[in-house]
Amino acid sequence: MRHVAIIGSGPAGYYSAEGLQKEFGSDICVDIIDRLPVPYGLIRFGVAPDHQSIKAVSKRYEKVALSDNVRFVGNVMVGRDISIAELMDLYDAVILATGAPADRTLDIPGGDLPGVIGSAAFVGWYNGHPDFAELDPPLDVEAAVVIGNGNVALDVARILSKTPREFEGSDIVAQALDALSRSSIRTIHVLGRRGPHQIAMTPKELGELGHLEEAAPRVDPADFPPEGDDALLEPGMRKSVTHLRDFASAGGAKRKTINFDFFAMPVAVEGNGEVERVVVERTALDADLRSIGTGETYEIACGLVVSCIGYKTPPIEGVPYEHGRGRFANSEGVIADGLYCVGWARRGPTGTIGTNRPDGFEMAEKIAAKYRGGSSTKFGRAGLDSLLEGRGVDIVTFRDWQKIEAAEAARARAGSPREKFTQIEEMLAAVPRTKS
Ligand code: NAP
Repeated sequence: MRHVAIIGSGPAGYYSAEGLQKEFGSDICVDIIDRLPVPYGLIRFGVAPDHQSIKAVSKRYEKVALSDNVRFVGNVMVGRDISIAELMDLYDAVILATGAPADRTLDIPGGDLPGVIGSAAFVGWYNGHPDFAELDPPLDVEAAVVIGNGNVALDVARILSKTPREFEGSDIVAQALDALSRSSIRTIHVLGRRGPHQIAMTPKELGELGHLEEAAPRVDPADFPPEGDDALLEPGMRKSVTHLRDFASAGGAKRKTINFDFFAMPVAVEGNGEVERVVVERTALDADLRSIGTGETYEIACGLVVSCIGYKTPPIEGVPYEHGRGRFANSEGVIADGLYCVGWARRGPTGTIGTNRPDGFEMAEKIAAKYRGGSSTKFGRAGLDSLLEGRGVDIVTFRDWQKIEAAEAARARAGSPREKFTQIEEMLAAVPRTKS
C-alpha cells in the first residue's frame, strides 16, 4: 500500500487521484486536501455560473471521491495547519494541484486604485468564493473596462451584461445577482492589446455574446485584417473571428453595448481616489505579432476596471517557485524527490478543464513507475489524522460536503441548482463537526 497526498481538489487534483486508482488499483490510499470545506476548486469557483453543463464534470470527480481508497480532507490549509515538509514525511508522494487562483497584477500607474479588480476576485465574487464575498464591486457606474482578450474576459463581459432572467438556471450567488440586477453599467469595453486574429477566445463562448437579451457586441470593421487572411487561421480561431466579423456587420442597438477595442493597451488608470478613466495607447503588431505602442493615446471614462490578464499559483513555503511564470519550478511535473505538481500549478493558467486529465494521469504513471510494488514505511492517513487532531483542526470529509451540498440545494431559488454558502462558517454550520 502506498500513501499519496494531493493538495487541491479541483480538476487537476481529482484527475490525479483517478490516475492513481488506475495505476495502483486498491494498493493506494489517497488523501485530497483542500483549504476550503467544499471541493472542486475551479469548477465551483472559476467556471461561470451560467455554464452549468461545464460544471457537471464534478459528477465524475464525485465517483472518484466516493471510492474507498480516496478521501477528501477539507478545511485544512497547507502552510497553516500542516507544512509541506510534514506531508512529505507522512506520505510516499505529495502532489500539488493548487491551481492558479491569484491574479496577475495590472502593473500600470493607477492599477491599484479602488475600482480596479482582478478577475480572480471578480469571478470569485459572483461564484461565491469565501475570499471575495465582501468584494462589492462598483456597479453604480455607466461604463466598465474589461482588460484582456481571453475566455475570462468574455465571462466577465457576459456576466456584466446579462439580465436577471438570463441568469435563470445558473448558480450565481444571490448577493451578486442582486447587485448585478441593480447595475447601471451600459457600456463594457473589452480591451485587447493585439488584434482580432490574436484573441484567446473560443468560438462557443464568443458566439454567446451575439444572443444576449439587452447587450449588443460591437467591433470596428477597420480593426480586421483582409478577410482572405482568415483562411490561414486554424478552424477554431477562424470560427471565433467569424463571430467578430458578424458583430462588426450587425446592425441594431440594444440597451447595453459590449465594445471590442482592439490594438488597445491600457497604460494608466486615473481618478481621484477611485477609477474615473483608463488611458489606452493604440498599438500595432511587430513581425513576431507582439504588440508595440504607437504613442497615440485615448481615454475611456469608466468606474470599474476588471483585469482579466491571467493568473498565478500562490507560492508555498519551502517549495521552489518560478516567479516569472507564476508557478512551481518543476521539470515535467517533478519538483523534488516525492514532490510533484499538476494542472495550472505545473503548467501555468492555460488550457481547458480536460487538459488536466492527461496531466494528472501522466503524474500518476510517474508515481507508479517509482512506487509500485514494495511497501510504504509512511504513516499516511493515520499520521495526518493524529497530527491534525493534535492541532485541533476539524476536517471536513466528503460525506460532510454532501451535507453542505444538500443544504445549498435546499435553499436554492426556483430553477437554480444551489444557493452557495459564501462564508466558511456557514459551510461548517451545515455539518455536524465530526472527523469520520
Ligand atoms: P488567457 O486565455 O491567457 O488570456 C489572457 C489575455 O490577457 C490575453 O488576451 C492577453 O493578451 C491579455 N493580457 C495579458 N497581459 C496583459 C497586459 N499586461 N495588458 C493587456 N492585456 C494582457 O487567460 P484567461 O482568459 O485568464 O483564461 C485562462 C484559461 O482558462 C484559458 O486557457 C481559457 O481558455 C480558460 N477558460 C476557459 C473558459 C471556457 O472554456 N468557457 C472560460 C474561462 C477560462 P496577449 O495574447 O497579447 O498576451
